[in-house]
Amino acid sequence: MTIQAQILALIKSLQVEIGCSVLLITHDLGVVAQVADEVAVMYLGRIVEQGSVRAILRQPRHPYTQGLLRSLPSLNEGRRRLSSIPGTVPSLTSIPPGCPFHPRCEFAQPGRCDLGSAPVARLLEPERWVACVRTEEIAAGQGGKEVG
Ligand code: SF4
Repeated sequence: MTIQAQILALIKSLQVEIGCSVLLITHDLGVVAQVADEVAVMYLGRIVEQGSVRAILRQPRHPYTQGLLRSLPSLNEGRRRLSSIPGTVPSLTSIPPGCPFHPRCEFAQPGRCDLGSAPVARLLEPERWVACVRTEEIAAGQGGKEVG
């Protein structure tokens, strides 16, 4: 953690000194929250949600982002079993049809999420893109629990 903090501080100082942008690739949402302004959440090589870090951490709209955030430990919640996203990431040589996340998505709808091409990211609100065909239904509490 100390080394990580030192490296992040070094990146930040170089960014200020050079006046450049920084593209940081990480699996650590804690680091994202600490240093980034914008975030693009990727699953199987595709961006599934993109927008400001503040908005996405406060109200994630894609089920994968929601699952990632639920799996983070919290100091405020005492002892609890950490949540996890069911299943495993498929091989890049056998990406599922339709939404690539559908085998693991609690909101996957047969005949809709598992057919055709991957959903294209849509602009939902200013500076928020989400690649999910059920975003509005899920936000309205109508997503159901179709799988798992
Ligand atoms: S498109 Fe369907 S399977 Fe993919 S994230 Fe949205 S609800 Fe889940």
